[in-house]
Amino acid sequence: MSWKDNLIKIEPYVAGEQPNKTDFIKLNANENPYPPAPGVIRAIEQFRGGSLKKYPDANAKPLADALAKRFGLNRENVFLGNGSDDVLALCFRAFFNSDKPVIYPDITYSFYPVWCDMLRIPYETIPVDESFNINAADYKRSNGGVVIANPNAPTSIGRGLDFMREILDANPDSVVISDEAYVDFGGTSAVPLLKEYENLVVVQTFSKSRSMAGMRIGYALGNSEIISALYAAKDSYNSYPLDSVAIAAGVASVEDEEYFTATIKRVMATRERLTNELRGMGFDVADSSTNFLFAEHSTYRAKDIQEYLKTRDIYVRYFSKKRIDNRLRITIGTDEEIDALIAALRDYIR
Ligand code: PMP
Repeated sequence: MSWKDNLIKIEPYVAGEQPNKTDFIKLNANENPYPPAPGVIRAIEQFRGGSLKKYPDANAKPLADALAKRFGLNRENVFLGNGSDDVLALCFRAFFNSDKPVIYPDITYSFYPVWCDMLRIPYETIPVDESFNINAADYKRSNGGVVIANPNAPTSIGRGLDFMREILDANPDSVVISDEAYVDFGGTSAVPLLKEYENLVVVQTFSKSRSMAGMRIGYALGNSEIISALYAAKDSYNSYPLDSVAIAAGVASVEDEEYFTATIKRVMATRERLTNELRGMGFDVADSSTNFLFAEHSTYRAKDIQEYLKTRDIYVRYFSKKRIDNRLRITIGTDEEIDALIAALRDYIR
Protein backbone atom coordinates (compact mmCIF):
# COMPACT_ATOMS: atom_id res chain seq x y z
CA MET A 1 0.00 0.00 0.00
CA SER A 2 1.43 3.35 -0.99
CA TRP A 3 0.16 6.92 -0.54
CA LYS A 4 -0.29 6.87 -4.31
CA ASP A 5 -3.16 4.40 -3.93
CA ASN A 6 -5.08 7.11 -2.12
CA LEU A 7 -4.71 9.80 -4.78
CA ILE A 8 -7.89 10.83 -6.55
CA LYS A 9 -8.62 8.74 -9.64
CA ILE A 10 -10.78 10.81 -11.91
CA GLU A 11 -11.00 11.74 -15.56
CA PRO A 12 -11.20 15.54 -15.48
CA TYR A 13 -13.18 17.79 -17.82
CA VAL A 14 -11.18 18.98 -20.83
CA ALA A 15 -11.91 22.54 -21.98
CA GLY A 16 -11.46 23.88 -25.53
CA GLU A 17 -7.81 24.22 -26.62
CA GLN A 18 -6.11 27.56 -25.84
CA PRO A 19 -3.36 27.76 -28.48
CA ASN A 20 -0.12 29.41 -27.43
CA LYS A 21 -0.29 32.20 -30.00
CA THR A 22 -2.19 35.42 -30.49
CA ASP A 23 -3.25 35.62 -34.11
CA PHE A 24 -5.90 32.97 -34.57
CA ILE A 25 -9.66 32.62 -34.73
CA LYS A 26 -11.01 30.94 -31.63
CA LEU A 27 -14.36 29.25 -32.25
CA ASN A 28 -13.91 26.36 -29.82
CA ALA A 29 -15.10 27.52 -26.39
CA ASN A 30 -18.49 29.14 -27.04
CA GLU A 31 -17.19 32.53 -25.97
CA ASN A 32 -18.93 35.70 -27.14
CA PRO A 33 -16.89 37.49 -29.85
CA TYR A 34 -18.03 40.93 -28.66
CA PRO A 35 -16.80 42.77 -25.55
CA PRO A 36 -18.89 43.16 -22.40
CA ALA A 37 -21.19 46.20 -22.08
CA PRO A 38 -19.34 49.56 -21.95
CA GLY A 39 -20.57 50.03 -18.36
CA VAL A 40 -18.76 46.83 -17.35
CA ILE A 41 -15.47 48.11 -18.70
CA ARG A 42 -16.05 51.47 -16.97
CA ALA A 43 -16.86 49.75 -13.67
CA ILE A 44 -13.58 47.84 -13.81
CA GLU A 45 -11.54 50.93 -14.79
CA GLN A 46 -13.11 52.98 -12.02
CA PHE A 47 -12.88 50.27 -9.38
CA ARG A 48 -11.04 51.60 -6.30
CA GLY A 49 -8.17 49.13 -5.86
CA GLY A 50 -7.67 50.27 -2.26
CA SER A 51 -10.97 48.65 -1.31
CA LEU A 52 -9.49 45.21 -2.05
CA LYS A 53 -8.05 45.18 1.48
CA LYS A 54 -11.58 44.21 2.59
CA TYR A 55 -13.32 40.89 1.93
CA PRO A 56 -16.02 41.07 -0.73
CA ASP A 57 -19.70 41.05 0.21
CA ALA A 58 -20.14 37.43 1.32
CA ASN A 59 -23.24 36.71 -0.75
CA ALA A 60 -22.60 39.21 -3.59
CA LYS A 61 -25.74 41.03 -2.42
CA PRO A 62 -25.62 44.00 -4.85
CA LEU A 63 -25.51 41.55 -7.77
CA ALA A 64 -28.10 39.20 -6.24
CA ASP A 65 -30.41 42.23 -5.91
CA ALA A 66 -29.81 43.33 -9.50
CA LEU A 67 -30.59 39.82 -10.79
CA ALA A 68 -33.61 39.41 -8.50
CA LYS A 69 -35.02 42.66 -9.91
CA ARG A 70 -34.41 41.58 -13.51
CA PHE A 71 -36.20 38.26 -13.01
CA GLY A 72 -38.99 39.55 -10.75
CA LEU A 73 -37.69 37.47 -7.81
CA ASN A 74 -36.33 38.26 -4.33
CA ARG A 75 -32.74 38.21 -3.08
CA GLU A 76 -33.37 34.90 -1.27
CA ASN A 77 -34.14 33.31 -4.66
CA VAL A 78 -30.68 34.08 -6.10
CA PHE A 79 -27.34 32.34 -5.49
CA LEU A 80 -24.08 33.52 -7.10
CA GLY A 81 -20.87 31.63 -7.81
CA ASN A 82 -17.64 31.71 -9.81
CA GLY A 83 -19.17 30.84 -13.15
CA SER A 84 -22.00 28.38 -13.59
CA ASP A 85 -19.49 25.52 -13.31
CA ASP A 86 -18.98 26.50 -9.67
CA VAL A 87 -22.74 26.88 -9.15
CA LEU A 88 -23.51 23.54 -10.81
CA ALA A 89 -20.85 21.71 -8.78
CA LEU A 90 -22.40 23.14 -5.60
CA CYS A 91 -25.88 22.13 -6.85
CA PHE A 92 -24.69 18.54 -7.32
CA ARG A 93 -23.27 18.62 -3.77
CA ALA A 94 -26.30 20.26 -2.21
CA PHE A 95 -29.15 18.42 -3.98
CA PHE A 96 -27.94 14.98 -5.01
CA ASN A 97 -27.56 13.03 -1.77
CA SER A 98 -29.77 10.06 -2.63
CA ASP A 99 -28.71 6.44 -3.21
CA LYS A 100 -30.69 6.52 -6.45
CA PRO A 101 -28.90 7.59 -9.63
CA VAL A 102 -29.00 11.14 -10.95
CA ILE A 103 -30.18 11.06 -14.57
CA TYR A 104 -29.22 13.20 -17.58
CA PRO A 105 -28.83 12.69 -21.34
CA ASP A 106 -25.93 10.67 -22.79
CA ILE A 107 -25.06 13.56 -25.07
CA THR A 108 -24.79 16.68 -22.92
CA TYR A 109 -22.33 18.85 -21.01
CA SER A 110 -19.40 16.57 -20.25
CA PHE A 111 -18.76 18.13 -16.85
CA TYR A 112 -21.79 16.32 -15.32
CA PRO A 113 -20.10 12.89 -15.05
CA VAL A 114 -16.96 14.54 -13.68
CA TRP A 115 -18.88 16.13 -10.79
CA CYS A 116 -20.71 12.85 -10.15
CA ASP A 117 -17.39 10.98 -9.99
CA MET A 118 -15.76 13.66 -7.86
CA LEU A 119 -18.67 13.75 -5.40
CA ARG A 120 -19.37 9.98 -5.58
CA ILE A 121 -22.90 10.50 -6.84
CA PRO A 122 -24.41 7.50 -8.69
CA TYR A 123 -25.67 8.44 -12.16
CA GLU A 124 -27.21 7.00 -15.31
CA THR A 125 -27.30 8.53 -18.75
CA ILE A 126 -30.36 8.34 -20.99
CA PRO A 127 -29.79 8.23 -24.75
CA VAL A 128 -31.02 11.16 -26.83
CA ASP A 129 -32.75 10.08 -30.06
CA GLU A 130 -31.01 9.87 -33.45
CA SER A 131 -31.73 13.58 -34.06
CA PHE A 132 -30.17 14.35 -30.64
CA ASN A 133 -33.55 15.24 -29.12
CA ILE A 134 -34.12 14.61 -25.43
CA ASN A 135 -37.35 12.64 -24.91
CA ALA A 136 -39.13 13.92 -21.78
CA ALA A 137 -40.95 10.57 -21.37
CA ASP A 138 -37.56 8.90 -20.69
CA TYR A 139 -37.28 10.92 -17.47
CA LYS A 140 -40.32 9.27 -15.88
CA ARG A 141 -38.37 6.82 -13.74
CA SER A 142 -37.00 6.54 -10.25
CA ASN A 143 -33.99 8.82 -9.76
CA GLY A 144 -31.99 10.88 -7.28
CA GLY A 145 -32.08 14.04 -9.37
CA VAL A 146 -32.44 15.28 -12.95
CA VAL A 147 -30.11 17.54 -14.93
CA ILE A 148 -31.16 18.98 -18.28
CA ALA A 149 -29.07 21.47 -20.23
CA ASN A 150 -31.63 23.53 -22.15
CA PRO A 151 -30.58 24.41 -24.79
CA ASN A 152 -28.43 21.31 -24.72
CA ALA A 153 -24.70 21.32 -25.41
CA PRO A 154 -23.01 20.34 -27.63
CA THR A 155 -26.15 19.64 -29.69
CA SER A 156 -27.36 23.31 -29.63
CA ILE A 157 -31.00 22.12 -29.52
CA GLY A 158 -33.43 24.04 -27.31
CA ARG A 159 -36.77 22.80 -25.99
CA GLY A 160 -39.89 24.67 -24.86
CA LEU A 161 -41.74 25.06 -21.59
CA ASP A 162 -44.02 22.05 -22.22
CA PHE A 163 -40.95 19.83 -22.33
CA MET A 164 -39.62 21.11 -18.98
CA ARG A 165 -43.10 20.93 -17.50
CA GLU A 166 -43.42 17.26 -18.51
CA ILE A 167 -40.10 16.46 -16.79
CA LEU A 168 -41.05 18.45 -13.68
CA ASP A 169 -44.52 16.86 -13.44
CA ALA A 170 -42.90 13.42 -13.53
CA ASN A 171 -40.32 14.26 -10.86
CA PRO A 172 -41.91 15.99 -7.86
CA ASP A 173 -39.55 14.15 -5.48
CA SER A 174 -36.24 15.12 -7.13
CA VAL A 175 -34.47 18.38 -7.64
CA VAL A 176 -34.53 19.20 -11.36
CA ILE A 177 -31.69 21.42 -12.63
CA SER A 178 -32.27 23.43 -15.81
CA ASP A 179 -28.75 24.37 -16.98
CA GLU A 180 -29.42 27.42 -19.16
CA ALA A 181 -25.89 28.55 -20.07
CA TYR A 182 -27.02 29.33 -23.65
CA VAL A 183 -30.68 30.21 -23.14
CA ASP A 184 -30.38 33.90 -24.08
CA PHE A 185 -29.60 33.05 -27.72
CA GLY A 186 -33.20 32.10 -28.52
CA GLY A 187 -33.87 29.31 -26.01
CA THR A 188 -36.81 29.07 -23.59
CA SER A 189 -36.01 29.64 -19.94
CA ALA A 190 -37.73 27.67 -17.17
CA VAL A 191 -37.72 30.79 -14.93
CA PRO A 192 -41.53 31.25 -15.32
CA LEU A 193 -41.97 27.73 -13.86
CA LEU A 194 -40.15 28.61 -10.62
CA LYS A 195 -43.42 29.82 -9.07
CA GLU A 196 -45.09 26.46 -9.77
CA TYR A 197 -42.32 23.96 -9.01
CA GLU A 198 -40.42 24.26 -5.73
CA ASN A 199 -37.97 21.49 -6.79
CA LEU A 200 -36.77 23.42 -9.89
CA VAL A 201 -33.45 25.24 -9.97
CA VAL A 202 -32.40 27.33 -12.98
CA VAL A 203 -28.68 27.91 -13.55
CA GLN A 204 -27.42 30.66 -15.86
CA THR A 205 -24.11 32.40 -16.58
CA PHE A 206 -22.50 35.72 -17.52
CA SER A 207 -19.96 33.84 -19.68
CA LYS A 208 -21.86 33.63 -22.97
CA SER A 209 -24.62 36.21 -23.57
CA ARG A 210 -22.93 38.79 -21.31
CA SER A 211 -19.44 38.32 -22.82
CA MET A 212 -17.83 37.86 -19.40
CA ALA A 213 -16.32 34.35 -19.49
CA GLY A 214 -13.06 35.71 -18.05
CA MET A 215 -14.78 37.17 -15.00
CA ARG A 216 -16.45 33.95 -13.74
CA ILE A 217 -20.00 34.81 -12.74
CA GLY A 218 -22.80 32.25 -12.66
CA TYR A 219 -26.02 32.04 -10.69
CA ALA A 220 -28.84 29.80 -9.60
CA LEU A 221 -32.48 30.86 -9.28
CA GLY A 222 -34.87 28.87 -7.12
CA ASN A 223 -37.12 28.89 -4.10
CA SER A 224 -35.56 30.05 -0.84
CA GLU A 225 -35.09 26.52 0.53
CA ILE A 226 -33.18 25.47 -2.58
CA ILE A 227 -31.04 28.61 -2.38
CA SER A 228 -30.41 28.11 1.37
CA ALA A 229 -29.09 24.60 0.65
CA LEU A 230 -26.68 26.10 -1.88
CA TYR A 231 -25.47 28.66 0.68
CA ALA A 232 -24.98 25.85 3.21
CA ALA A 233 -22.85 23.94 0.67
CA LYS A 234 -20.89 27.07 -0.29
CA ASP A 235 -20.28 28.15 3.30
CA SER A 236 -18.96 24.68 4.13
CA TYR A 237 -16.29 25.09 1.50
CA ASN A 238 -15.51 28.71 0.58
CA SER A 239 -17.51 31.55 2.05
CA TYR A 240 -16.41 34.32 -0.35
CA PRO A 241 -16.83 33.10 -3.93
CA LEU A 242 -17.34 36.29 -5.98
CA ASP A 243 -14.63 38.94 -5.70
CA SER A 244 -15.42 42.65 -5.31
CA VAL A 245 -14.47 43.53 -8.90
CA ALA A 246 -16.75 40.80 -10.28
CA ILE A 247 -19.66 42.05 -8.17
CA ALA A 248 -19.25 45.63 -9.48
CA ALA A 249 -18.80 44.50 -13.10
CA GLY A 250 -21.73 42.10 -12.88
CA VAL A 251 -24.09 44.81 -11.63
CA ALA A 252 -23.01 47.07 -14.53
CA SER A 253 -23.77 44.29 -17.02
CA VAL A 254 -27.27 43.66 -15.66
CA GLU A 255 -27.96 47.41 -15.79
CA ASP A 256 -27.41 47.58 -19.57
CA GLU A 257 -30.28 45.55 -21.01
CA GLU A 258 -30.07 47.37 -24.35
CA TYR A 259 -26.48 46.33 -25.05
CA PHE A 260 -27.27 42.79 -23.88
CA THR A 261 -30.16 42.47 -26.35
CA ALA A 262 -28.24 44.05 -29.24
CA THR A 263 -25.23 41.73 -28.79
CA ILE A 264 -27.41 38.63 -28.70
CA LYS A 265 -29.22 39.73 -31.87
CA ARG A 266 -25.90 40.22 -33.63
CA VAL A 267 -24.68 36.75 -32.69
CA MET A 268 -27.99 35.20 -33.73
CA ALA A 269 -27.94 36.93 -37.14
CA THR A 270 -24.43 35.61 -37.82
CA ARG A 271 -25.57 32.17 -36.64
CA GLU A 272 -28.41 32.08 -39.20
CA ARG A 273 -26.03 33.14 -41.97
CA LEU A 274 -23.46 30.46 -41.06
CA THR A 275 -26.17 27.79 -40.74
CA ASN A 276 -27.31 28.49 -44.31
CA GLU A 277 -23.75 28.59 -45.66
CA LEU A 278 -22.85 25.29 -44.02
CA ARG A 279 -26.01 23.58 -45.25
CA GLY A 280 -25.19 24.84 -48.75
CA MET A 281 -21.78 23.12 -48.46
CA GLY A 282 -23.30 19.75 -47.57
CA PHE A 283 -23.29 19.95 -43.77
CA ASP A 284 -26.13 18.65 -41.66
CA VAL A 285 -26.61 21.41 -39.08
CA ALA A 286 -28.96 21.16 -36.11
CA ASP A 287 -31.29 24.16 -35.61
CA SER A 288 -29.40 26.07 -32.94
CA SER A 289 -30.81 28.00 -29.98
CA THR A 290 -27.28 28.79 -28.77
CA ASN A 291 -24.15 30.70 -29.81
CA PHE A 292 -22.71 27.66 -31.58
CA LEU A 293 -23.56 25.15 -34.30
CA PHE A 294 -23.35 21.37 -34.23
CA ALA A 295 -22.53 20.17 -37.73
CA GLU A 296 -21.64 17.02 -39.65
CA HIS A 297 -20.54 16.85 -43.28
CA SER A 298 -21.96 14.25 -45.67
CA THR A 299 -18.52 13.20 -47.00
CA TYR A 300 -15.67 14.83 -45.07
CA ARG A 301 -14.67 13.59 -41.62
CA ALA A 302 -15.11 16.06 -38.75
CA LYS A 303 -11.65 15.32 -37.32
CA ASP A 304 -10.02 16.01 -40.70
CA ILE A 305 -11.92 19.26 -41.13
CA GLN A 306 -10.89 20.34 -37.63
CA GLU A 307 -7.22 19.55 -38.35
CA TYR A 308 -7.36 21.42 -41.66
CA LEU A 309 -8.95 24.48 -40.08
CA LYS A 310 -6.11 24.58 -37.54
CA THR A 311 -3.65 24.97 -40.43
CA ARG A 312 -5.69 28.07 -41.33
CA ASP A 313 -5.46 29.26 -37.69
CA ILE A 314 -9.14 28.57 -37.04
CA TYR A 315 -9.98 26.51 -33.95
CA VAL A 316 -13.30 24.66 -33.66
CA ARG A 317 -14.27 21.93 -31.19
CA TYR A 318 -14.25 18.22 -31.91
CA PHE A 319 -15.32 15.47 -29.46
CA SER A 320 -14.01 11.94 -29.95
CA LYS A 321 -17.09 10.65 -28.12
CA LYS A 322 -19.31 7.86 -29.44
CA ARG A 323 -22.38 9.06 -31.41
CA ILE A 324 -20.94 12.55 -31.99
CA ASP A 325 -17.44 11.73 -33.25
CA ASN A 326 -18.20 12.99 -36.74
CA ARG A 327 -19.57 16.36 -35.60
CA LEU A 328 -17.98 19.75 -35.13
CA ARG A 329 -19.08 22.30 -32.58
CA ILE A 330 -18.49 25.73 -34.05
CA THR A 331 -18.84 28.88 -31.92
CA ILE A 332 -20.38 31.91 -33.61
CA GLY A 333 -17.65 34.54 -33.98
CA THR A 334 -17.74 38.04 -35.47
CA ASP A 335 -18.89 38.36 -39.08
CA GLU A 336 -15.26 38.68 -40.23
CA GLU A 337 -14.24 35.56 -38.32
CA ILE A 338 -17.14 33.62 -39.80
CA ASP A 339 -16.26 34.92 -43.30
CA ALA A 340 -12.73 33.52 -42.81
CA LEU A 341 -14.19 30.20 -41.65
CA ILE A 342 -16.50 29.98 -44.66
CA ALA A 343 -13.62 30.80 -47.04
CA ALA A 344 -11.42 28.11 -45.48
CA LEU A 345 -14.20 25.51 -45.64
CA ARG A 346 -14.86 26.37 -49.30
CA ASP A 347 -11.18 25.72 -50.04
CA TYR A 348 -11.34 22.38 -48.25
CA ILE A 349 -14.69 21.11 -49.52
CA ARG A 350 -14.42 21.06 -53.27
N1 PMP B 1 -23.20 24.64 -18.71
C1 PMP B 1 -22.98 24.35 -19.99
C2 PMP B 1 -23.97 23.52 -20.74
C3 PMP B 1 -21.81 24.83 -20.63
O1 PMP B 1 -21.56 24.54 -21.91
C4 PMP B 1 -20.90 25.63 -19.90
C5 PMP B 1 -19.67 26.20 -20.57
N2 PMP B 1 -18.57 25.35 -20.63
C6 PMP B 1 -21.17 25.86 -18.55
C7 PMP B 1 -22.33 25.36 -17.99
C8 PMP B 1 -20.22 26.60 -17.66
O2 PMP B 1 -19.96 27.91 -18.03
P1 PMP B 1 -19.36 28.95 -17.00
O3 PMP B 1 -18.71 28.21 -15.88
O4 PMP B 1 -18.39 29.76 -17.79
O5 PMP B 1 -20.53 29.76 -16.50
